Parts: sequence; structure tokens; C-alpha cells
Amino acid sequence: MSASHISSSPSPANHSNALSSGLHPQTKLALAGQQTDGAYKSVSLPIYQTAIFRFDDTDGKPQYDYSRSGNPTRAALESTIAELEGGAGAVCVASGMAAVATVLALYDVGSHIVCSHDCYGGTERLLTWYQKQGKLDVTYADLTDPINLSLALRPETKAVWVETPSNPLNRIIDLRKVGEIANDSKIDLIVDNTFLSPLLQRPIDFGANFVVHSTTKYLNGHSDVVGGAVIARTAEDHVRVHFAANATGATSAPFDSWLVLRGLKTLPIRLRQHQENAQTVARYLESHSQVKKVFYPGLESHEGHELAKSQQAGFGGMVSFEVIGDASAVRALLTSTRVFTLAESLGGVESLIEQPATMSHASMRPEAREEAGITRNVIRLSVGIEHIDDLIADLEQALEVARCSSNTLKTKALATHV
Ligand SMILES: *Cc1c(COP(=O)(O)O)cnc(C)c1O
Repeated sequence: MSASHISSSPSPANHSNALSSGLHPQTKLALAGQQTDGAYKSVSLPIYQTAIFRFDDTDGKPQYDYSRSGNPTRAALESTIAELEGGAGAVCVASGMAAVATVLALYDVGSHIVCSHDCYGGTERLLTWYQKQGKLDVTYADLTDPINLSLALRPETKAVWVETPSNPLNRIIDLRKVGEIANDSKIDLIVDNTFLSPLLQRPIDFGANFVVHSTTKYLNGHSDVVGGAVIARTAEDHVRVHFAANATGATSAPFDSWLVLRGLKTLPIRLRQHQENAQTVARYLESHSQVKKVFYPGLESHEGHELAKSQQAGFGGMVSFEVIGDASAVRALLTSTRVFTLAESLGGVESLIEQPATMSHASMRPEAREEAGITRNVIRLSVGIEHIDDLIADLEQALEVARCSSNTLKTKALATHV
């Protein structure tokens, strides 16, 4: 097998599986990957755990020749995700960061990128590194006011990178307006859609050229795979993304692809429960005396509530809040939950709790973190699909532990002063 193996063509969105038009996404997902096995007609998609495929002769190339370039299991996942997002095609890669890097690889050295100022910490870290190396120039802007995009534009600006809702504060960016500015300025709109999934938001409908996912999160949904996807609006861009992923070797393994496709089948019902629980948790926190502020777009009090309603099909399962108390109170809260697990990441069936400043966003420059408003009192919840009563009871007892811990310290401090 030659080392310069970069010629296979990408899998088109209409890969032969059971996805057909006219069906609801929930039905399409339940059937995804079926009818790919011509040999034995297995109902579950086979895992083509092979690196290579046999050539019949040297006259033509088989549909698949080498799994970095193309693999039937990955292709079934790619066509499913592409159709969900409404793109011409998708490429599945080894992680969300591989997806970010694959899109960024499309831009020439010296290109300028405008990025929403509170993007995922890993994205900020990669962009900062590329900037240091002189590969890309980056401006971070608060894109909740789209005027800041117009102000940041330069002749060499090639793309705007948007995350909405943002991580961890759930700020909402107006995709329609940002899409219009990007289109008028002839720059690409790239949207990281990880927080919502295509069932709750379809950036391509607002003019996005590329959509990025960490499939590690909601799309797989079981916290057992690290994966990513890039969806391109046009067939031409899909070819470019496939070239980049194949050339750098970022593509996803067959088994991981299979797991993500299996996870996708239950995405609609998982999301329904995530959202229902998140809405109840957000309301509960909003009424709690230990909580200063809740960041959830499903609350009428949230700044972006109306905008979220107009561009999303739901408010998602991520809830952040600012807890009242000193460092020891925050620590007590984070370490005393029993149902919520103290861990980074999000989008799995199990509920997670974390402190963005020291965990998920630790890789961000401290100034960038501060600018984005991510203080140590900000707590992020990925609300899972457990019974809501258990979730509320768990938060109730943990907030009580936090309150007591804060008070104990104050009493101690007073005692020493006396
Ligand atoms: C997790 C995440 C990523 C990175 O994905 P990995 O799979 O961890 O590499 C990118 N963007 C967002 C919004 C994420 O939550």
C-alpha cells in the first residue's frame, strides 16, 4: 500500500442505507445504517474492521481501498449525519478537535479568522497555537452583538467561527444575522453545533458553510467514544474536507463510527428527556437562595430566550449557574453530589457537574476566560436522562453542604479574629 494514499473519493450523502426522504428524523435514525450489507442482509450495520479492501484488477479502483480514505461503516455514519444537518456530505474524524483542525486546515497561511470569544477551550487553544506559529490570525469577538463581526472584518478575513449556545454560559448568537454578514462579506460561516445537535439547530439553514461536531457529546450520547464530524454544505467543500481529513489521517475508526451510529438511533428520545430535565433543573436553581444566576436559554429570564426560540427547535440539556459562596463552598458543592458525576464533557445519558474555570476551560488563556465571564463560581451541568426527582434531590443536598461549608468558614474566620 503506497504511503501517498490520498485519492479515494468521499462518501456522498446518499450512501445506500435506509435513509430516504419523506420520513421524520426520528424514523430515519431508527433505520440508519440498515441495508448496507448486501452479502448477509444483517439488520445491524456490520463493523468493517479492516484496513484494506481487495482490488479485482489494476484497471479500476474498488469503491473502498484503504480505511483511512473510506470505510463502509464510517460512510454510513457520515451520510446519516450529513442528512441530519442538511449538508452535501460529512466526514467523521477521531475527535471533535480533529474536526476543528480539519476545517482550519482548509485556510491558507495568513488567513484571518473571527471567533466567538467564549468558544470551546480546546478550540481557543488550537487557534492561539496557530496564531503563535503564524499560520492563522485570530480575532475574538463577542458575537452576541453581530456588529462586532462587521467591526472585526479585514481584507484577509476568511471565516467566522461561531458556537451557539456558547460554552459554558449559553449565550445565543443570531445565526441569521451572522450568516448574512458572512455571506455579504464572502467569508465562510463555521458553526460548532455540538451543544444542540442537528435535531435542535441546523446552521446550514442559516447559511453556514461548515458545521462541526464533537460526536463525543450528544450524537454518541453514552460517554464511551471520542469522535468528531465536519459537515459541508456544498459537494465541492465536502471533497475539500475529505481531502484534508484523509491527507492528515484524522478519519474515524470503524468501531468508533459504529458506536456513534448506534448512539444516534436514540438521539431524539434522549434529547427529549435531556431537555425536559434541564428545564426543570434550571427553574429549580433559579428559585434557590444559594444561586445568583442561571444560564439556560429555556428560561424567560435568559437574555437570549427569544432568539433561541426563533432559531432552535429546543433549548438543549446544558445548564450553567453562578453559585453564591467562597472557594470552599464551591468545592463542597462540586464534591458532594451523588447522582451528578464530577467530570468534564457533556451530552451523555448520565448527569455531570463541573467547574469550567479549572476543568473544561482550563486550557483557555486566563485573560480570555475572564473576558468571557467564566469565574470560579460558574458551575456547569450536563443534565442527563435520570429521573428528575433524583436530580433535584441531589442538587438540593449538595447546595446545602455548600451553604454550610461557607458558613463554617466564616465562623472560623470570625473566631480567629476574636
Ligand atoms: C468537546 C467539544 C469539542 C472538542 O471535542 P473532542 O471530541 O473532545 O475533541 C469541541 N467543541 C465543543 C463545543 C465541545 O463541547
